[in-house]
Amino acid sequence: MKKIIFLSLLSLSISSGFSQEKARTTCQDSDEGFIYEADRFADIRILKYRIPCFDQLTADQRKLVYYLTQAGLAGRDIMWAQNGQYNLAIRSVCESIYTQYRGDKENSDWLSFETYLKQLWMSNGIHHHYSNLKHQPQFSQQYFDQLLKESNVVCDDNLKRVIFDPKIAARKVEKDASKGLVENSSVNFYGPGITTAEALAYYESKIKAEDRTPLSYGINADLIKVDGKIQEEVYKVGGKYGRALEQVVYWLEKAEKVAENDKQAVALRKLILFYKTGDLKAWDDFNIQWARATEGDIDFIHGFVEVYNDPLGNRGSYETIVEINDFEASARMKTMMDHAQWFEDNSPTDPAFKKDKVVGITYKVVNVAGESGDANPSTPIGVNLPNAQWIRTMYGSKSVSLGNIEDANNKAGGSGILKEFAHDEDEIILAMNFGETAGKMHTAMHEVIGHASGKLKEGVAPSSQTLKEFASTIEEGRADLVALYYVMDPALVEWGLMPSLEVGMAEYDGYFRNGLLVQLRRLKLGEEIEEAHMRNRAWICNWIMEQAAKEKEPCVAYIKKDGKTFIDIKNYDEVRKLVAQLLNEVQRITSEGDYAAAKKLADGYGKHVDQAIHKEVLQRSDKLNIPPYNGFMNPVLVPETDDKGNIKDIKVTYMDSFAKQMLMYSKEYGFLK
Ligand SMILES: [Zn+2]
Repeated sequence: MKKIIFLSLLSLSISSGFSQEKARTTCQDSDEGFIYEADRFADIRILKYRIPCFDQLTADQRKLVYYLTQAGLAGRDIMWAQNGQYNLAIRSVCESIYTQYRGDKENSDWLSFETYLKQLWMSNGIHHHYSNLKHQPQFSQQYFDQLLKESNVVCDDNLKRVIFDPKIAARKVEKDASKGLVENSSVNFYGPGITTAEALAYYESKIKAEDRTPLSYGINADLIKVDGKIQEEVYKVGGKYGRALEQVVYWLEKAEKVAENDKQAVALRKLILFYKTGDLKAWDDFNIQWARATEGDIDFIHGFVEVYNDPLGNRGSYETIVEINDFEASARMKTMMDHAQWFEDNSPTDPAFKKDKVVGITYKVVNVAGESGDANPSTPIGVNLPNAQWIRTMYGSKSVSLGNIEDANNKAGGSGILKEFAHDEDEIILAMNFGETAGKMHTAMHEVIGHASGKLKEGVAPSSQTLKEFASTIEEGRADLVALYYVMDPALVEWGLMPSLEVGMAEYDGYFRNGLLVQLRRLKLGEEIEEAHMRNRAWICNWIMEQAAKEKEPCVAYIKKDGKTFIDIKNYDEVRKLVAQLLNEVQRITSEGDYAAAKKLADGYGKHVDQAIHKEVLQRSDKLNIPPYNGFMNPVLVPETDDKGNIKDIKVTYMDSFAKQMLMYSKEYGFLK
């Protein structure tokens, strides 16, 4: 529930030459010559990401990172098994063919087979990672039989039916209750014969409404029927997925010995206890200790975390991310947090709706050193955990953005989209020089200042109750407007957060280009804008365009060139005034809980898509041929040992072939085969 989804199409900025002079640590680690894109197939692009400045960590910290990434990969197969009961067997058959087949590999059938296997790798199973629908092979069963025979690989008939019959295991997670949530999902959480009603009843008897610190029931267990009675099959050492979890524990115990501080060590010990016993109390204890452990440079996500894959929302998918603090970016966040009150006091909103004492939201930028399970190859770009609300309230939570993942996405994108949708050379140069900084400033202000700002009028209920279905798009829009307002403020230049107001100009260009044109790439012709962030960008841009059009000399306008539509900002200061006006109104809507006004903005300006422009955007972007989804390849951490085999240090290396990395993972970490 707390995952920030990766929107590969929305990123437009590319490299800037600006270096952060006031940063605590300067990292002289250039990505010159690094090639980000590694592969393309179906609707997927595979990118590599770098770990910048790994050398600046101490040797023990590097070992800690290594042990944690090993602990993550050791459980990789759990995600495959959770995603569907046939996944590991199908993977094994296909990988055997892939490595043993010696016949013709130039024809279209073989390429279709290869694409199919890469699709399995991308989604840790036979269902698409985003749509949930089963991958349908683009080669015949006859060809598959030929491959099996010529490669000396055996595959039973049942597995073949699962691969080829579109009706079997058609979707991973069923969301339509009328079709049977448990009955119609092929995710591997429920044993044969268990109905939705039975699964719900099993947990209803355990959960007590008055319990203020409820356990995460079902987070680490499948439900099965034994002699007609339902019971849990718990993921733990000696239990379900025990062989993989033994390996996970082996590496976590090594990590615990080189922990950076006691809090981190305690958290790791609780996690080990959880994997050894399956005890839900240990899971809560781990999350509490983890939320408290904020001092280290290294952090990690490890466990059965997100519950989207369970149609009933109880079971957690195995997920791991190892994180290294990005000191430079975190210093920027800190400067912002230190000025939180200044931002509140100087905001263009009604003083009645300002906080007397504002506390910035703690938000860190980290660089990923390794991901596994639910987080790889498809990854979030930000994570906010733990999930249990009572732990968040009592012990705090951590919100991180995955900086090097975003960088990889930005840099791999190249300038294709920018050049197509920017209206002139100035806009392109501005984006090339300041786009990346602009994007980072926007994210930082949106998260640290935007969401923390403003207050409700006395007696008004939270937005979720007053603004209802519009609450999230209004809140995201409000945070965006705060960021847009301040990114053109000279004070930020004064504090050394950005080199000049050109950053703000690049941000305005990019925001309108995206909100009115580029983001439409994500929609099919005829669809309306639903997703909260996409919608808020649309209503902000459309509202400002409408106001500007009333002026004699509009500060921002559509222009047509060679039959193509562009946005031209002619006066950035005037646009900023409209941003201020809209921010003031949106804060009022939030503070007063004005449902009608929220609906007018979100529906009236944010939902409908101009069909002619949409068609044009799709045509223009189709030509650029950039796949809509990104997957990521982990760097490979290699231990350096002394004569006795003791690990002395860790080096970062990068693989170039997605297929090789996936085959290596299956071989080295295939503990559930
Ligand atoms: Zn937000």
